[in-house]
Amino acid sequence: MTASAPSISPRRGFHVMAKPIGPVCNLKCAYCFYLEKTALHPPGERYRMSDAVLESYIRQHLAAQPGDEVLFAWQGGEPTLLGVDFFRRVVDLEKRYAEGRRVANAIQTNGVLLDEVWGEFLAREKFLVGISVDGPRAIHNRYRVEANGRPSFDRVMAGIALLKKHGVEFNTLTVVGAHNSRKPLEVYRFLKENGSGFLQFIPLVERLPNAGAETLGLDLATPPEPGEGGPRPSVTPWSVTPADYGEFLVAIFEDWIRQDVGRVFVQLFDVTLGIWTGQGSGLCVFAEECGHALALEHNGDLYACDHYVYPAWRRGNLLETPLAEMVHGEAQRRFGAEKRTTLPRFCRECDVRFACNGECPKHRFLRTPDGEGGLNYLCAAYRRFFRHVAPAMETMARLLRAGRAPAEIIEIRRAEERRPKTKPDVRCLCGSGRKHKNCCGKTRASA
Ligand code: SF4
Ligand code: SF4
Repeated sequence: MTASAPSISPRRGFHVMAKPIGPVCNLKCAYCFYLEKTALHPPGERYRMSDAVLESYIRQHLAAQPGDEVLFAWQGGEPTLLGVDFFRRVVDLEKRYAEGRRVANAIQTNGVLLDEVWGEFLAREKFLVGISVDGPRAIHNRYRVEANGRPSFDRVMAGIALLKKHGVEFNTLTVVGAHNSRKPLEVYRFLKENGSGFLQFIPLVERLPNAGAETLGLDLATPPEPGEGGPRPSVTPWSVTPADYGEFLVAIFEDWIRQDVGRVFVQLFDVTLGIWTGQGSGLCVFAEECGHALALEHNGDLYACDHYVYPAWRRGNLLETPLAEMVHGEAQRRFGAEKRTTLPRFCRECDVRFACNGECPKHRFLRTPDGEGGLNYLCAAYRRFFRHVAPAMETMARLLRAGRAPAEIIEIRRAEERRPKTKPDVRCLCGSGRKHKNCCGKTRASA
């Protein structure tokens, strides 16, 4: 399960999630959408990026990026299955082709193979590690199991301990599905106590197979066509419901805003504050357009996005077509623009459209109340979340504009709660100049 990509404008280059071992993994998480990608490759495929593909990718990626710092993101499958030597070669090639620019590496792992050798390497080369953990033992082990069904929790926690021991920078990636969405505070408090203080949540939404998937021999549906939409979603039993996801986010936000702002970094909350301060979305899923975050398979095939690794969205192979040509080509440009141009009217007229932008097209398979296709399955969750956080986001954005820390909202909230409820006309402590009853206090209760 992979994270959403950062939103990157063409001026700033593009992002590639490289999968040097394809979909091969040492775990067999019941909900993983990537394991079944083996069906897209011929029998006997060697799932290991060859030296020719690796070198070509690193050389072309560096040449095509305009900035002073270039990021390489390594995912899977499980990339640590390739062994440390593969990544030593990565670092050597990056140094060879960097021409003085800074290079950063991020690796997403399930953590179970991390050992002392990995710890020393990741620390020395300053890799940023994303580690997948879904919550406390019972929750995590519900779906995240080894191929023989053995639970993975203890090995993941050992991996986290090792990262801490070596001082490796890491964040946690938590898939939010049917198994944990009704236990938001249990999950959040566990991650706070055991993680690194940097948290990502990824909603789990997978549809049952459609005709496109069956043709390809897949068990999960292929992405919807723009404008597609059925009245009743047929999602997998492990998918999160929109209502549960909305409440999950709101519950964690309420805990975070009371004590953790500035101390615990929840990617979604940071991104939302960025939107409220006018910086735009830091994540592709909430950007107006996307298409600047592509996926590279082990054999050099490039796809429109990690969520779109299907033949219809294959842009070519980097041993045959220049990487930059595929990234900036017409097909990819149209793919990114369609995120905006295919928004249903219901979204275009939505009061939180500026923050949500219809989220990821992969999840747009519902009909709107007036029957138009292309509505996001998670619509109800985002309406709930963005409306709920709006007053607090306004307060934090105002604090930032005044050169103050957003964390001051914690004390503002506490003072609001201490204030007698019988004096609704006093000015709000957040500094807005508005009456308390019309500012944070009132809207918190009403959202
Ligand atoms: S389809 Fe677009 S919004 Fe969705 S994950 Fe891919 S790049 Fe992001
Ligand atoms: S909250 Fe719903 S209606 Fe509003 S932009 Fe997002 S998906 Fe569209």
